[in-house]
Amino acid sequence: MPVYSLIDSHCHLDFSDFDSDRAAVIERARQNGVTDIVVPGAFVGNWTKIHDLCITHPNLHPCYGLHPYWTDRHDENDLEKLRQQVASNPCVAIGECGLDYRQQQADRKKQLYFFTAQLDIAVEKKLPVVIHAVRATEDVIQQLRLRPGLRGMVHSYSGSYEQARQLIDMGFYISFGGAITHSRAKKLHAMIGKLPLTSLLIETDAPDQAGSAHQNERNEPAYLVEIFNALCKFRKEERAVIAQQICKNVKTLFNIT
Ligand SMILES: [Zn+2]
Repeated sequence: MPVYSLIDSHCHLDFSDFDSDRAAVIERARQNGVTDIVVPGAFVGNWTKIHDLCITHPNLHPCYGLHPYWTDRHDENDLEKLRQQVASNPCVAIGECGLDYRQQQADRKKQLYFFTAQLDIAVEKKLPVVIHAVRATEDVIQQLRLRPGLRGMVHSYSGSYEQARQLIDMGFYISFGGAITHSRAKKLHAMIGKLPLTSLLIETDAPDQAGSAHQNERNEPAYLVEIFNALCKFRKEERAVIAQQICKNVKTLFNIT
């Protein structure tokens, strides 16, 4: 089977899970056709690491943001630090930011505060946003409606088809990850077949969300090809056309040349 050029639109390569073998992980991704990787920021403490990593590897593209999962760790000053970080270091987006309504997650009011503040920074800096939405797609859509013209992606999409259509109508891309490699993911599979190819992205979200072939293992960007293969099963277009369009989508969204 030919190796297609693919772009991982969401991979936490800065996480300590990769500290012992990061160079090998990047090389395996390259050998599997992954030409570029977008690295989202999760908390202030790792922004410098992301910056340095992306300087060393020009095919890695940095984002800076405050992830809802670590809401307890963020404080008010981090928003000003985000403004400064973005002003003095090139990046392709604000994020990962968003809302996560799983029970164990932090206080929703505080999450909403950091999410909306980051959306406002993205508007101010004219940057796209990388959004994390778990059981919270409706509230995310509500906030995006208040900021027309803002663009971005919803990573590891888990909302409904109707919500995906609304997001696409607002200029957002829908990104699919390891979940679509599971045969039980019928709702996502049906959605993949119906959404416009011009609005789809793929991602690993490594080190998390390993696909069906790597359960209970560390995920890595080289496995993006398995997500691409899963996606192709539910599309009518030729594989080469799908690969090309998905790369074009990432490049357009993040202004990657
Ligand atoms: Zn993520």
